[in-house]
Amino acid sequence: MTVRTDAHIMEYRALGQTGLQVSRIGFGASPLGNVFGATDPAQGKLAVHLAIDNGINFFDVSPYYGLTLAEERLGDALVGKRYKIILATKCGRYGADQFDFSAQRIVASVDESLRRLKTDYIDLFQAHDVEFGDVDQVINETFPAMQKIREQGKVRFLGVTGYPPKTLLRVAEAFPVDTILSYCRFNLFIDDMDAVLTAFCKERNIGLINASGLHMGILTEDGAPPWHPAPREIQAVGRKLADLCRSYGTDIAKVALRFCFDHPYVSSTLVGMSRPEHVKRNLESVQLENDPNLLKQLKAIIAPVHNRIWPSGRPENYG
Ligand code: NAD
Repeated sequence: MTVRTDAHIMEYRALGQTGLQVSRIGFGASPLGNVFGATDPAQGKLAVHLAIDNGINFFDVSPYYGLTLAEERLGDALVGKRYKIILATKCGRYGADQFDFSAQRIVASVDESLRRLKTDYIDLFQAHDVEFGDVDQVINETFPAMQKIREQGKVRFLGVTGYPPKTLLRVAEAFPVDTILSYCRFNLFIDDMDAVLTAFCKERNIGLINASGLHMGILTEDGAPPWHPAPREIQAVGRKLADLCRSYGTDIAKVALRFCFDHPYVSSTLVGMSRPEHVKRNLESVQLENDPNLLKQLKAIIAPVHNRIWPSGRPENYG
């Protein structure tokens, strides 16, 4: 589905079998919580409003981002506009090393998120970074608790998120999730999400959400934040890619996002945003076509680190 707003054409895709149509570009709200560096809350609010006015209808956040700050700020920005968007948040992760996938914590978590987001329902409630938990507990305790919350009407759909596609698959094979959110596994640097998740999601009509199309900042002019887990070699390649795009008169972020939007099955690509100028530029990528010659050269530079990953979560969940 395609919708024209004043300035842009936005494309929408079905989010699995939820009946929801989400914009091809989704608003990742983690930067509102200062995850990538300090941000101005007024600019953040303008960024959210600009996104909504231009047809971005899918917003993703978590209590973890900025230790609840991102949810607070997004909640403020959504006053009077909540009804226009599809809102996703998460549970189970509350700090860099703070995880609690117990039923008791999940039940409290949803009410805390509802309060911060100033709403009485969440569209998509997701177990956050499950590779850091005991996956058996996630399957046998977390999701049954999330299911009860759904039956109470506080949330509409359930999803799982994390880094290792195989762990996401394991959860989705055991519990009928509505969505899978995978991050840093499909973008210019990497495509191993496809080998594990895409056909599975298609077959079961599960919504597939691709997060971090900019590889958490590496595929931007500014480069990676200091905490980025990717090996230095990958970050150095990112600088070469930015240089090459500049020499073509374009911007690495634009090219990287367009590459993600071209995925044939992904419902929405989440991009972290907190500034109106980023929203504006990222909206432009929806209509861009990538130059095949430039893509070929970018791929040649990436080749030595293509599909390189880093450890995340419990060792038994790596991969
Ligand atoms: P990303 O790849 O989207 O990169 C975000 C960084 O790029 C930020 O510093 C942002 O300011 C910058 N940026 C955005 N547009 C830009 C532009 N046009 N020019 C220059 N810089 C630009 O990384 P992300 O934010 O981690 O991922 C997107 C979203 O996906 C997150 O905000 C979050 O909502 C979601 N996510 C979820 C999980 C999970 O559930 N486990 C993990 C990662 C991301």
